[in-house]
Amino acid sequence: MSLRDTIARLDKQGELVRVRREVDRTFELAAVAKKLDGGPAVIFENVRGFSMPVVLGTDGTKDRVAANLGVKSHELVHRFARAIGEPIPPVRVADGPVRARRLRAPLDLGALLPVPHHYEKEPAPFITTGMLVARDPDSGVQNLSYQRLQLKTGARTGVYMLHRHLHQIYDKNCARGRPTDVAVVIGMDTAVRLAAATWGSNIPIELDEFAIAGGLRGRPVEMVRCETADLEVPADAEIVLEGRLLPGVREPEGPMAEFTGGYGSDGPKQVFEATAVMMREDALYQDILPFANEHHLMLGLPYEGVLYRFVKASIPGLHDVHITPGGCGKFLAVLALDKRDDGDAKNAILCAFGAIRDIKLVVAIDTDLSAANERHLQFALATRVQGDRDIFMIPGAKGNELDPIQDVYGSITKIGIDATKPLARADRFEIARIPGLEGIDLKDYLS
Ligand code: MN
Repeated sequence: MSLRDTIARLDKQGELVRVRREVDRTFELAAVAKKLDGGPAVIFENVRGFSMPVVLGTDGTKDRVAANLGVKSHELVHRFARAIGEPIPPVRVADGPVRARRLRAPLDLGALLPVPHHYEKEPAPFITTGMLVARDPDSGVQNLSYQRLQLKTGARTGVYMLHRHLHQIYDKNCARGRPTDVAVVIGMDTAVRLAAATWGSNIPIELDEFAIAGGLRGRPVEMVRCETADLEVPADAEIVLEGRLLPGVREPEGPMAEFTGGYGSDGPKQVFEATAVMMREDALYQDILPFANEHHLMLGLPYEGVLYRFVKASIPGLHDVHITPGGCGKFLAVLALDKRDDGDAKNAILCAFGAIRDIKLVVAIDTDLSAANERHLQFALATRVQGDRDIFMIPGAKGNELDPIQDVYGSITKIGIDATKPLARADRFEIARIPGLEGIDLKDYLS
């Protein structure tokens, strides 16, 4: 269930390549990773100046994510919806592989970790797969969330927190004049990565994301105590940076290329200071290349589970949902449903807008097509949309802050497209089939 188990399985199935040639952490590693985008996972074994290898792409395709969780691709959304509904809390264990090596201050994170510098206008390398563990001082419940961390000198990084759960915990501690203990987890399996990628607006702060990871794994995540912080972290992590968010401290941070492909905000941000490091023997550094398929999948897959639960509650005929990676993993959703009434499709689209703020274009299709198949999407748009009746817009809605098209008031226009066939004339939309097609195995004909 660890990242190592995933790598071993991908290696055996020929879905992993190894780059043995020396690469520079500045741009070269990212450029090779970008060329491999959507292809196999990759391990860079020789990053100039470092003995630690860098791995990317273990969750680089939807089929691979599904296989990593032991399900078929079309079952992913249901597995995720179930994990949110039936979380399995983590359990404490005495020891684990992540405790093999332990380092204390003085720490130099930039010399210790081969953090790639991905994009041209970024001022420094960013840790893009850092999952931050923090504890709510009131409830005692841990929170797990991705935050980008900009390398600075020594043990410090910048932190860009949006106003969600971690920021709420930080604010509570600041109000009491206290730093916030934080552990940065790097190098995890698919279940923990997806759980960390869920959003505060969809998951209550009282729900520990490690319990969602347990639900995804089908068994509890085993946790060990940190050495210098009152926190628990996964026993099978590759690397854990322990430390604290400093109260009241702000330093320049950013810009970093974000999921939209553009450079997000820069300005004064909070600061993390590491106090200790735990890591496995021969630890691997896990990286995610922003604005690449793996990034967009990690963003979109948790949305699919949330979207499915929310829309299904109103529209029982909902069959499947898909957030397209090409839509930056956030903006474009496809709903496949069996209509009882013609209005069901538009109602489902309205539910989707209500479920997730970031979604701005929703297409409803029939279940004789597959939500995840882009050709099917184009077919539905091409043959089942009467523009004046089936396309509707909601101007002035709130969208994602990083959407470059948002207007000066920070709002966007949401677009719904009903690409389902009208019930009264459904026979005109029958897709011709060839009898026996499903039973044909080409091996029987081409040998
Ligand atoms: Mn949370």
